[in-house]
Amino acid sequence: MLNCREVVASATDYLNDDLPPLRRLRLRFHLLICRHCRRFLRQIQLTSATVARLTETTLSPDDIERQARRLRQHRQHQPLTGDPPKPLD
Ligand SMILES: [Zn+2]
Repeated sequence: MLNCREVVASATDYLNDDLPPLRRLRLRFHLLICRHCRRFLRQIQLTSATVARLTETTLSPDDIERQARRLRQHRQHQPLTGDPPKPLD
């Protein structure tokens, strides 16, 4: 079974279906028992979907600055641990 750090390192390949079958299976087993990594992967999926939508939408500079400020504030409140980042509210 993979640990949380290995799941984070493999997250993009997992979501792009680029992992070798055994590693994919080990990652999925980890996800069964780790709600933090499930949330982390869900956050990546939401971010990817949002970015895809942003390419179709034009944001004002104020909207971009507001989102950047929100992300900076979220990061500042994250504890410095080896755990995957917690999702935005
Ligand atoms: Zn985990």
